[in-house]
Amino acid sequence: MESISSRVTQVTPSLTLSITNQAKAMKAKGEEVYGLAGGEPDLDTPDFIKEAAIKAIQDGKTKYTPAAGIPELREAIAKKLKVENKLDYQASQVIVNSGAKHSCMNAIMAMVEEGDEVIIPAPYWVSYPEMVRLAGGVPVIVETKEENGWKLTPEEFEENMTGLTKMIIINSPGNPTGAVYTADELKALGDVALLEDIVILSDEIYEHLLYGDAKHVSIASLSKELYDLTITVGGFSKAYSMTGWRLGWIAAPAEIAQAISKIQGHTTSNACTFAQYGGLAALEQKSTFVEDLRAEYDVRRQFMLARLKAIPNISVVEPEGAFYFFVNCEQLGMKSVNLCDKLLNRYRVAAVPGIAFGNDNCIRISYCTTLDVLNEGVTRFEEFCRAH
Ligand code: PMP
Repeated sequence: MESISSRVTQVTPSLTLSITNQAKAMKAKGEEVYGLAGGEPDLDTPDFIKEAAIKAIQDGKTKYTPAAGIPELREAIAKKLKVENKLDYQASQVIVNSGAKHSCMNAIMAMVEEGDEVIIPAPYWVSYPEMVRLAGGVPVIVETKEENGWKLTPEEFEENMTGLTKMIIINSPGNPTGAVYTADELKALGDVALLEDIVILSDEIYEHLLYGDAKHVSIASLSKELYDLTITVGGFSKAYSMTGWRLGWIAAPAEIAQAISKIQGHTTSNACTFAQYGGLAALEQKSTFVEDLRAEYDVRRQFMLARLKAIPNISVVEPEGAFYFFVNCEQLGMKSVNLCDKLLNRYRVAAVPGIAFGNDNCIRISYCTTLDVLNEGVTRFEEFCRAH
């Protein structure tokens, strides 16, 4: 339609949707589909969180809250950031948003001017480039190398910096590769950002899903200078299995936090009131849920890693975080949408085409499903690879 704004028309529709829709249609017809395309934990939200939200509704916590969130939750997030992430934010520097996706969009809206460039290492989470475009910015996609564990090097960052660069997006642990940056790697990227005061959007939504020796480091904790440049994003969706609750947060230098609060005040207002009480319970009540989830996912990860490594004509980097494998299928000689289409239609396995994440030779396989489904799915994927 002609009257739709160019801001929206330049945004690419989701390339992942057609495969997902096909898989759903097949399931609806009663056909067996082995779903390795999911982006959310398969476990239910823990009862203690649900109960806190139910109680909030029963107690009449059903009205507006301050746009930036209930003070108790902002306080609890600030405390969590201090204890777990070595980050010193006041509650006033924390804004509760409607999911970490919303947090990222708010951060980009607050910082990016028309024509500003935003460096996005590829493979990237599917929404970053489109968020930048929606804000009037220019996504600068920088391809990372498989041999570098899909991590951006300081040299690659610096080569792509121009006078127009405003922001870099760092996502560790990362979707879709599961890459986790070490403190030294973050420090080296931070040093480059400091050369030109490039704002760092640090998306740490997968911070609790770490395996092996990997440690989560918040880039803002590395120095006062980096703290001043960084917007830290986190949330409840992945660690607490709360994807549908739509609850995330940003923590940022005071001026940026105020700007984001202003945007939120005129767009969405507060995140869902009773969801915020659920989030408060998640942070304040002692529970082993997150560790149990992580341990369970590690079992699945190791199972899948061994199976994928045994397939000769693909390659895979061991993911150290999140719940995905980014599988290089270049040797199969098919582009990713075609590959995923065939994999679904002939072998009943749903995976996500890598093109959605900026790499058309790869596919993303997630392990947020049962070991039985993973076993059957990877067996079928192996047959597919053998046949090509
Ligand atoms: N960042 C990354 C890297 C993600 O993978 C996701 C969810 N897929 C989000 C942010 C958004 O999380 P939420 O559901 O809390 O909006």
